[in-house]
Amino acid sequence: MDGAVYALIVNACAALLFAVAFAVIRFSYHSQRAVEWFCVSYALVMLAPLSELGVRFSAWSPLFVATSYASLLLSTLATPLGLAAMSGRALPWRGAALILVCGAVLRAAIWGGHRNALPYEMAFQAPFAAASALSAWVAIRTVRERGGRLWTAVAILFAVSTVYFLAKPVFASTFGSGASAREYASSKYALFSQATGGLLLITVGLLILLIAVEQAMGRTILESETDPLTGVANRRGFERAAARMIAHAGRTREPLALAMFDLDHFKRVNDTYGHAAGDAVIRAFADLLLKMAPRSATVARLGGEEFVLLLDRTTLKGAWHVATAIRKALPGIAHLPNITASGGIAQLKPGDTLATLLERADQRAYEAKFSGRDRIVPNPPGVVSAPVRAVPAEGAPKDEPKDAETR
Ligand code: GH3
Ligand code: MG
Ligand code: MG
Repeated sequence: MDGAVYALIVNACAALLFAVAFAVIRFSYHSQRAVEWFCVSYALVMLAPLSELGVRFSAWSPLFVATSYASLLLSTLATPLGLAAMSGRALPWRGAALILVCGAVLRAAIWGGHRNALPYEMAFQAPFAAASALSAWVAIRTVRERGGRLWTAVAILFAVSTVYFLAKPVFASTFGSGASAREYASSKYALFSQATGGLLLITVGLLILLIAVEQAMGRTILESETDPLTGVANRRGFERAAARMIAHAGRTREPLALAMFDLDHFKRVNDTYGHAAGDAVIRAFADLLLKMAPRSATVARLGGEEFVLLLDRTTLKGAWHVATAIRKALPGIAHLPNITASGGIAQLKPGDTLATLLERADQRAYEAKFSGRDRIVPNPPGVVSAPVRAVPAEGAPKDEPKDAETR
């Protein structure tokens, strides 16, 4: 049997395996809808070598010539659409439709034409080169916007494959692609075309699979680090972000401060207004933190009605101002009266770890509770003591700074 026939069978099998792999990813990770495009693309591209076998061995050669071309073109056009969907960009429908129409017109124009002649082969390959260039364009724009090694590899791959499609007519006219469509499979060019095409099919498939898995993993990690009630980071997410911020502060010697909040008498809120209202207060407090914290700060819910704010490039004094502004904005939150919070603040010191920083802020939040709630402790030197709405408990220590922690 001709060598190209084996290559056709291998390519059809490889395409089928990728189509199945994309289907498995789609069903395993519901967020990865974009891989449907590649599932369709690989199912279609599988039909091209099967059609070529039909051309070679069946009595319906013209029909299979048409299905081979159509499946290959539709498959290469599904790729830029899938890449755009995967990168969250608008799908290049107009470009794809234009290539499809031009491809159909060109193929009809050269139907029954002189195979192996350079113009014939160029007209044959031009739509594939254009579709590949469209994929490269989508990938390049994605790299420009957000970088990424895998996307860079995709951009390079499609740029190379565009050149490959443009060069194919030269190879076809030089080596000969068979005197007729039926003789294509026994030509030297068919072996070259199927071998290189197969390599391309596998490389593109592997890269897209890697991107899909990377995206799915990233999403899973994000979900595992997000508090479902409020949408802010949970303790796990906070620990990861805090480790990065502490390391950065250590390197740059910039100040870093932590503010810890605990809603006051929250049990009473639940008991008085119900658990759903309590949830609404927790959500509203998280929204307030997001609204009032600087963009570079990390907001997290450590659990229950306990939140933290990690503020980069911020001293204890700066943290006090931010925390006090938040405390003062609390009344009327979630349309419920008398919601207050107590907070403790601490600034990163040399030798601190996240645990020691948290412990200090926690201790101060406890002092804030103990000294009457609805306050931020300590008052750093130089700031005027905040007016406090709640009445301090009898015998409780005054709301005064316990230490001076400014740089
Ligand atoms: P304190 O002023 O001393 O902080 O008193 P508190 O009542 O706020 O403190 P405590 O720790 O005794 O109670 C916290 C309450 O928060 C108990 C728990 O039912 C409630 N809580 C924890 N998580 C949630 C939640 O996700 N939703 C609601 N609605 N309530 C929660
Ligand atoms: Mg608590
Ligand atoms: Mg509480």
